Amino acid sequence: MSTRFYGISDYLKRVDGGGKWVKLALDGGFTCPNRDGALDTRGCIFCSESGSGEFAGDGDGGRISEQIAFQKTLLAEKWPNARYIAYFQNFSNTYAPVASLKRTYDSALAEKDIEGLAIATRPDCISDAVVALLKTYRSLPVFWVELGLQSIHEKTGEWMRRGYETRVFDETFDKLKQAGIPVVVHLIAGLPGESREDFLESVAFVSERVPFGVKFHMLNVLKGTDLAESIVAEPFQLLDETTYVSWICDAIERLNPAITIHRMTGDGAKDELIAPLWIQNKRRVLNDIEKTLKARDSVQGCKILKDEAT
Ligand code: SF4
Repeated sequence: MSTRFYGISDYLKRVDGGGKWVKLALDGGFTCPNRDGALDTRGCIFCSESGSGEFAGDGDGGRISEQIAFQKTLLAEKWPNARYIAYFQNFSNTYAPVASLKRTYDSALAEKDIEGLAIATRPDCISDAVVALLKTYRSLPVFWVELGLQSIHEKTGEWMRRGYETRVFDETFDKLKQAGIPVVVHLIAGLPGESREDFLESVAFVSERVPFGVKFHMLNVLKGTDLAESIVAEPFQLLDETTYVSWICDAIERLNPAITIHRMTGDGAKDELIAPLWIQNKRRVLNDIEKTLKARDSVQGCKILKDEAT
C-alpha cells in the first residue's frame, strides 16, 4: 500500500467484507469494429491478435465457466479465499446485441465466488441500450467499465487508427457518469510524436473529468502487429525506463486524488513483446515510481493543489 497515490488495491480493501480481490481475464468471444470491417480490418496499430488482452483462460477462449475454473485452479494455492472479478478484456466487450452481452456477463457472475465485473470496451460501442444494461450491474460490490482512450490528441488517434474522435469518448463518458457507471480510462505514455507536455495534457483532460480510475501504459511493440512493421520502416524513439518513470510521476502529481490508479506499468505478454524490454521488470519500474515520488516528496494531485493555491 502506498501513501503517495490511491491504488485500486487500497480501494478494494475497503469494499464491504474486505478480503483479497483477484481479476480473472476472460475472453467473451467478442470482436471489435476496428477488426471486423465495420470501421477497419487492421485494428489499432499496436493491437495484437488477441485484441489487446493479456491472458484469458487457457488461451483458446472456450466457455466462460471453463475459463474461470482454469484460472481459479491456477490461483487457488496463492489466494485460497479470494473474491473474484470477471474481467472481460479482449477486444470490445460491449460490441454485440444487448441480449448476448447480458447472457455473457451473467454467465460469469453465476460462477462461484465471482462477485465483481469489469468490462473493457470502446466508447463508440456503448449505445443507450448498453448503458441501460450496464446500469443493472451497479449494485455489484465491484463494477467498472474500461475505455481505451490512450490520448486526447486527434493526430495521435489517427496514427493509432483508433477510429473515433476524442469528442466521442467525452460524450460516452458523460453518459456513463450520469448513469452512475464507474469508468476506468486507459492512457499510453510515449506515443510517437507526443512530448511529455502532450501526454500531460491527456492526463489533465482525464483528471478534470474525475473518472473512477485510470490505467497508465507504456507503448508496447508486440510481434505480429502493424506497429512492429511500422517502427522498422519509420523508426521512432521509445521511452527509456527513467523517462517513463519520470512521466508517470508527473502524471500522478497532476491526477485528482479521488481517482483510483489501476495500473502504472504492465509487464507485457512475454512471448509477444519486442520492445521495450525493460517493461518486463514490472517490480523494478513500480519501485522506481515509488522512490521517485518519495524523492520529490510528491503525492497524487499535489501539482493540482499547488496550482490552485497560487
Ligand atoms: S479497440 Fe481494442 S480490440 Fe479494437 S483494434 Fe483497438 S486495441 Fe484492438
